[in-house]
Amino acid sequence: MSNKPILAGLFTAALLSVAGSVIAQEQVLNLYSARHYQTDEALYGNFTQATGIKINRVDADDAGILARLKAEGAASPADVILLVDAARLGKADMDGLFRPIKSAALEAAIPAQLRAKPSAEGTTWFGFSTRARIVVYNKMRVKKADVDTYEALADPKNKGLLCTRSGAHPYNLSLFGAVTEHLGEVKTEAWLKGLVANMARAPKGGDTDQIKGVASGECGVALTNSYYLARMMRSTDPEDKAAVEKIGVVFPNQQTWGTHVNVAGAGVAKSAKNLANAVKFMEYLASPAAQNYFADGNNEWPAVASVKVNNPALQAMTGGSFKSETIPISAVANNQTKVQQMLDRVGYK
Ligand code: FE
Repeated sequence: MSNKPILAGLFTAALLSVAGSVIAQEQVLNLYSARHYQTDEALYGNFTQATGIKINRVDADDAGILARLKAEGAASPADVILLVDAARLGKADMDGLFRPIKSAALEAAIPAQLRAKPSAEGTTWFGFSTRARIVVYNKMRVKKADVDTYEALADPKNKGLLCTRSGAHPYNLSLFGAVTEHLGEVKTEAWLKGLVANMARAPKGGDTDQIKGVASGECGVALTNSYYLARMMRSTDPEDKAAVEKIGVVFPNQQTWGTHVNVAGAGVAKSAKNLANAVKFMEYLASPAAQNYFADGNNEWPAVASVKVNNPALQAMTGGSFKSETIPISAVANNQTKVQQMLDRVGYK
């Protein structure tokens, strides 16, 4: 057997690819992403396979991405910006980092409630997955009926029991922004004051630390995003398993306005150089296959209503379904400056 045909073939392929790069530049997409999950590799790989568009990723946390975009200004190579909270998406929007787009596919797939408020130029950002901000409580110390609404967390009967991460963290800014939509400013500020009065300890750590605080008994009740609890429920670590045994979970406000639901989402960057690719990528994220990867990578729910996930932890947590709030997430995002001022006034660090 001779190797010649193979070598000749490789040589021809090399020539073709050189010719190709002269005729048409390689198709690329520069993605600034605050999401880093294992399933994201498949998510991005499938896009490249289907479109031939190569994805260059800049991975950082949300604050890092926003700082970088500001520093780069109009020279930024960013085409799509992916952030993981409505407050952050709203902040990026207020800072003018997005370019509004018009996409019939996205408008059909993503519920209006889960995207930015459209202007005449189009829509700046779209939510691609949802997460609930839920309550966890220590089953030995607290009765479920005493903590089954957000309002109850500020009730004097729960004094000395509440743990949360910093009030100014985007997850809390979004929740408090939602409560402002539901109750109005005056009642929300009184509520925030009640939360501060009920703290078991000064706010610190992340959501997982609050869950662990509840499990250890240091906290009676805490707020967490649903995926942190789901991650713990799916963990094989004996410590996590033991912690999960000790806690109860509530999807708050099932009898009233529903549980607060936040989004991870994305928008096209203001100075995107690969605009068509950016829109194509956004539309890809709303496709059923991508929705599955996107949601499952972080134990979230797809934003596209027709796409169903099969996640045992989420199933166990909700019993199948729950009532979520129906206010537009863009209104929640836009309340954050107001919320920050209230937090300062009530001393919620
Ligand atoms: Fe998170």
